[in-house]
Parts: sequence; structure tokens; C-alpha cells
Amino acid sequence: MSTSKNPETIALHGGEFRKDQSTNSVAVPIYRTTSYQFDSTEHAANLFGLKEFGNIYTRIMNPTNDVLEKRLAALEGGLAALTVSSGQTASTFAILNVARAGDNIVSSTDLYGGTVSLFTHTLSKLGIEVRYADPTDPSNFEKLVDDKTRAFYAETLPNPYLRVFPIKEVADIGKKYSIPLIMDNTAAPLLCKPIEHGASVVIYSLTKFIGGHGTVIGGALIDGGNFDWTAKPERQPQFNEPDNSYGGVIWGKAVPDLTGANVSFAVRARVTLLRDLGSALPPDNAFGIIQGLETVSLRMKQHCQNAQKVVEYLQKNSNVENVIYPTLHDKKISERAKKYLKGGNGALIGIELKGGIEAGKKFIESLKMFYHVANIGDARSLAIHPATTTHSQLNEQELKDSGVTPGYVRLSIGIEHIDDIIADLDQALDASGKPSLKAVS
Ligand code: PLP
Repeated sequence: MSTSKNPETIALHGGEFRKDQSTNSVAVPIYRTTSYQFDSTEHAANLFGLKEFGNIYTRIMNPTNDVLEKRLAALEGGLAALTVSSGQTASTFAILNVARAGDNIVSSTDLYGGTVSLFTHTLSKLGIEVRYADPTDPSNFEKLVDDKTRAFYAETLPNPYLRVFPIKEVADIGKKYSIPLIMDNTAAPLLCKPIEHGASVVIYSLTKFIGGHGTVIGGALIDGGNFDWTAKPERQPQFNEPDNSYGGVIWGKAVPDLTGANVSFAVRARVTLLRDLGSALPPDNAFGIIQGLETVSLRMKQHCQNAQKVVEYLQKNSNVENVIYPTLHDKKISERAKKYLKGGNGALIGIELKGGIEAGKKFIESLKMFYHVANIGDARSLAIHPATTTHSQLNEQELKDSGVTPGYVRLSIGIEHIDDIIADLDQALDASGKPSLKAVS
């Protein structure tokens, strides 16, 4: 088994898997089983009583998923991970694992739209309040803390603004109050390891760069193992009060006692939330994501290298008003890219076209190689014009607040040859700048 600390090697050899124990298969097999034979009644009782860990039922654990979970934990520098059915499930579980009705969390304003919808609509109906802090100034998080605040939440590299989040600065505020920082690292795998900067939980939409081929939906939560859930018991009641759904167990104490590791967050999420809500990642999907994970380091390098060249090209194009990229913000914000992103600045680029909404539409319609899809992180190059799609219900002010101007186009740069990427952008930008025939006639 490899003990390498290098992500390129972990992605292929991590996860305590050298070969399948019964067949010697080198590829991780898909364990298509719902359930697992107990060795004895005592064995069954021990598994259910958490006296020993092992397979019970695939809604809660599966050997294929287990390899993926261990590889993800190793890649992030965490202690344990849990795979779930989608990135949305990962963010939902991350919050429900720490907060319940009457509690609140403080979240960055720079978020994926689906997360905003979850936080603003669904969580509020469950009685969990989400307070929004502008991450430009990390102290905004502290201003919103009260004695019911259970977590801070943010994305490492959120679009459309593409402002890298001040991870350490906000994690340090959290430490003062015993509040964990949960980071969605979907857009920056391998480029950033939030746990190294003080985050306690990392979540992923595995659907994006890690799966990498636009074929599988999946999500994960990674427990950093670096947060003391019992330090201030009143701050984290779900880890310090007896859980009547599990024989009165106190998760913050029982899990470290039982496993010798600080993995209370991952264990609680698995044995209560997966048990009750059932949003398991099917093992076939875990297999698909493992295939993606094995080459993610190569792809991320190519995504970033291509994106950098695209940025340089776009900055010179006369049809482009503004290029949005992590390194192109004012000094204070672009310094964060330097501090937190290593090996590249990501695949996502925003462009504002001079001709506004009409130019945006024309640009998208003129693309020949880029796909017009509501996705990021595919090996293929992707584009979307939010003002006519994902954000089409918003008025002009709401568009502005969300960072989406009428001419804004989001690009997710793929790993095709750079000449082909630029050629496609070039002809589409050219078309976007020309008056339409209708306007001329
Ligand atoms: N987080 C981010 C940053 C995303 O971009 C997405 C999806 O676009 C999600 C979470 C949700 O992931 P999924 O589509 O796998 O549910």
C-alpha cells in the first residue's frame, strides 16, 4: 500500500486498496450488493451497537464507496469521508449534521445558486436560519455570530465573482467561538486543501472536476478531524447531548472513544443522516467517480494551463469588456488566489461582453466546440449565459447583486488543445460583436 503524500499517487493508490481481497482485481470492483452476511448474532449486535465497524447495509456503507471515501480523505488531508448522492446532498448533510431548528449558520454570500436556494428556502422551512456575510472583509462573519451559530460555510472558488475565499482568516474567527468552517471545494480540487488552512469539513460535488467526464452525479463530505466537538458543549449540542435515536449516544465523546480518532462528524453523518434520509451514492456511481479521480491531477493541470492562456487571449479581444478570473481582482482579493491556490487558478472564467444581453446570446449560439450546458468541470469546454438561463427570472438589480451582468458569460475551460479552444472563442466573439441581420435591416 502506498504511503505517498503526493496527490497524483494518492488518486491512484490511496484508499487502503491494493487489490480486491477475493479476486486480486486491481481495479476497484463494483460491490453491487444491498446487504452483508453477519458472521454471528454477536457480530451483528456489535455492528449495530457501534462496538465494531463493518458493513451492514449499502444505504449506509459499501466497499466500493469505502475506497473512494478513503482516497478523498487522504487527498484532502482529512481523517474520514462520506460519499452521498450529489453535491446538494453533501451541503445539506454538512448543515444538518451541526444545526437543527432554532440554530443558525453564517455563510458567505458568494455561493452556487443551488446552495442559495437550499439555504434560503428549504433550510429556513426547517427552522435553520442562514445569515449571509460578504467575504470581502472576513470580520463580517464575526458580526453575525450569536450563541446559536453552529457553523461557517463558504466556497473556495465561487462563481460568478471568482473571488477566492479567505479560509484561514474566517477559520481563525471560528476557533475563538468553537465554530467549525465548512468549505465547498468543488471548483478547486488539488489546487486548494482547505483543511490545511483551518477548515474542519470539506464538501464536494464530485459531479464536477473529480468525476470529470460529465457522466456521474455524486457528492462527498470530508471530516478534517481537527475540530474539538466537545470543547464548548453548548456550542455543538448535536455532538454533546444524548442522541435518543441511537441509544443515547453522545457523538462527540463516543466516536473518539470507540475509534481512537476524531471522526465524530463523519460517523454521525453516516449513521444518522444516511440512515434516516437515505441519500446514498450508488456503488456504480462511486466506481465512475473513482475512474475520474485517478486522472484528476492531470486534468486540473491542463484545465488551469488552458484557462490561463484563454484569459490572456480574452484580455486582448475588443469585444470583451471585462475578464473575471481569481488573479484579476484588486490586490487584496487577488492576493488570496496566490495564498490559497497552488498549481493554477482554476478552469472557470467570467467574461462580460460589450454588447450586453444580445451579444451574450449571439456568442453562445455561435460556439461550435464549447457545449452550452449548466455544468462546470467537464473535460470538455463548457459555456453558459446566465442572464438568459439560470438567472433569467431575476430583474436587473437582482442580476447585478448576484454578480451576473446582462453580458456575462461563464466559461469552464476544458482540456482540449488550446488552439482549438481559442479558435472557437475567437469566431464566437467575432460573431457576438457584429450587429444581427435583423438590427441592420
Ligand atoms: N457546489 C458547487 C460549487 C456546485 O457548482 C454545484 C453544482 O453545480 C453543487 C455544489 C451541487 O452539486 P450537484 O450538482 O452534484 O448536486
